[in-house]
Amino acid sequence: MTPTAPAAPALLNVKADFPIFDHHPELVFLDSAASTQKPRAVIQAISDFYSRDYANIHRGAYRLSAHATDRFESVRADAARFFRAPSPDGVIFTRNATEAVNLVAHSWGQAHLNAGDVVLVSEMEHHANLVPWHLVTGLRGARVEYVRATPDGRLDLDDYAAKLRNPAVKFVALQHVSNVLGTVHPAAELVRLAHDRGLPILLDGAQAAPHLPLDLSALNADYYVLSSHKMLGPSGVGALIARPDTLNALPPYMGGGDMIREVYPDRSTYAPAPNRFEAGTPAIAEVVGFGAAMAYLTDLGMDRVEAHEQTLLHAALDRLNQIEGLDLYGPPTARGGVISFNVRGAHAHDVAGFLDEANICVRAGHHCAQPLIRALGCASTARASFYIYNTLDDVDALAGAMAETAEFFR
Ligand code: PLP
Repeated sequence: MTPTAPAAPALLNVKADFPIFDHHPELVFLDSAASTQKPRAVIQAISDFYSRDYANIHRGAYRLSAHATDRFESVRADAARFFRAPSPDGVIFTRNATEAVNLVAHSWGQAHLNAGDVVLVSEMEHHANLVPWHLVTGLRGARVEYVRATPDGRLDLDDYAAKLRNPAVKFVALQHVSNVLGTVHPAAELVRLAHDRGLPILLDGAQAAPHLPLDLSALNADYYVLSSHKMLGPSGVGALIARPDTLNALPPYMGGGDMIREVYPDRSTYAPAPNRFEAGTPAIAEVVGFGAAMAYLTDLGMDRVEAHEQTLLHAALDRLNQIEGLDLYGPPTARGGVISFNVRGAHAHDVAGFLDEANICVRAGHHCAQPLIRALGCASTARASFYIYNTLDDVDALAGAMAETAEFFR
C-alpha cells in the first residue's frame, strides 16, 4: 500500500470579505503585524452604528443613549468571552496596547516602585513595552533590566530565571509574541516563574491576540494588553485585561468624567474597574467595530486562524530558505506568521522598495524594537507578516520577488 501524505491543513478562503482587495486586486499585503486590513463586517458595523445608534454613552437619560451604552458594554462582555478574561469588569478599553502598558506602568509604578528597584523586561520588547518603563523608573529612581535574547531569537529562560532571583526586581513586563521574529514565547512558563517569586507580570499580547486562541484566565498574567487594529478591528481602541480586584488596587491613571464616584471641591473618589480607568468619552464606535472583529474571528475559529498562518509561514520559509544571499531571522520552531529578513549587500528599505514595485507590502526598519535589532547584529530588517486574507499565491509572489531582489544585489 502506498502511504498517503498527511493532509495539509485547510486554508481559509476569506479574501473576498476584505474590500481593500476589490480596490487593489494586485495587492500582496504582508504588513499585518503593523495593522491588519478590515473585513466588510467591521466597516459596516461602524457605519451602521453611526447611522442608526450613535449617542454618547453612560450618562444619557434617553433611550438612544441607553441603547448605545448597551452596545458598548456588550463588547466588553464579548471581549471577556473571546479572551476568556476573568470578568467583563476586568476589560479596560484603552486607545491601544501602548496606552494599556502606560496605564499599568504609571499606576502600578508610581504606587510601588522605589529607588533601586528593578523592572524586568527583555531585549525583544517592542518600544511600547519598554519606554513606559523607562519613564516611570526614571521618575522613581528605579531602573530597567533586560532578559537576554538567544541568537536564534527566543527569550533566554536561564537568564530569565537568574534575573528573577534578584530581590530588587519588583515587576516583570514581557511580550507574548515578537513583532520582529514571530517568536511565540512560553507565556504560561513566564507567568509561573514570575509568580513563583511573588512578582506581578504584564504580558504584551499585541502580536498574540490576533493570531492565537487565548485563555487569559488560565494564563493568569496579572496584566495583558492588546490592540484592536492588529486583529481586524479599527484603530483607536485596545484593551488592558486583568482581574477586577487587581485593577481596583491600582490608583487611576487619568482623571475626568466617568471614572469618579464623588467629586468634592478638594478631592475625588473613584469608581471601581472598568470605569476607574476609562476617563472621558471613549472610542464608542471603534469599540463597536472591535466587537464586530471579534465576532468575525469567532466565526472563523482562532484555531483555524492559527493553522492558516502556520501553513503560509512554512510554505514561505521553505521557499525563502532556498534563496541565496538572503538572511532569515528567527527561531526554527514556535513562531507565528512573521518573517524578518535581509538581502546581503542591500539596505532593508531598498528591499522593501523593490517589493513595493511588485505590489508587495512589507515593513522595513527597526520595527520599534531597537534593542533586539542591535542584539541581532543588524541595522534593520525587512519584515513580511501574514494574516487570514493571505494566500499561497502571496507566498509565491513574495518568493519570486525576493529571488529577483537577491539576484539583483548579488
Ligand atoms: N507590542 C507589540 C509586540 C507590537 O508589535 C506593537 C505594535 O506593533 C505594540 C506593542 C504597540 O501596539 P500599538 O501601536 O497598537 O499600541
